[in-house]
Amino acid sequence: MSRMLPRTVEQFMAYACAMEVEATERYAELAELMDTHHNREVAELFAKLARIEGKHRDQIMQQMDWSTPPASSSFRWETPEGPETTDYGDLHYLMTPYHALKLAQHNERRAAEFFERFAAARLPTAVRESAAEMAAEEREHVRDAVAFERGLPGLLGREADSRKLVSEQRAQLVLVASELGDVRQ
Ligand code: ZN
Repeated sequence: MSRMLPRTVEQFMAYACAMEVEATERYAELAELMDTHHNREVAELFAKLARIEGKHRDQIMQQMDWSTPPASSSFRWETPEGPETTDYGDLHYLMTPYHALKLAQHNERRAAEFFERFAAARLPTAVRESAAEMAAEEREHVRDAVAFERGLPGLLGREADSRKLVSEQRAQLVLVASELGDVRQ
């Protein structure tokens, strides 16, 4: 992260904007994905985060008087394992609510750290204040995602998976029993 720390306010804002654009898009995708997994609560969390990051993006663009996000800067979400393993297309097939929340936590931490560095850098007070504000909000997003992971195990697919496993095992036992000619309902 430090190697790409921008040097000017303009660069900082461009990078921050790219970060918010990426977060907005990823959260909208995750919300849709969780919806197809019938995890309404997690879908709603991601939809809420998509809206907040979208507001950050608009706020930055307004401050800089940009009509579109600058193309010069880019930011990509990465998996907790690091950027090398990230192939977002592939992830969609594997992603459970648990993985989605881990992914969100990881990238929210990156965002918070980025803004915290800026808040501590030698920059105009207004920029540092705005960075500190965004850092605080990103920390809140980390807490939200952690709270969901801890507090709602039923949402994370573990319970559903283990129930499914049990019912599959039961079905197999019934099958075996019926083959042995000993079926009792
Ligand atoms: Zn965030």
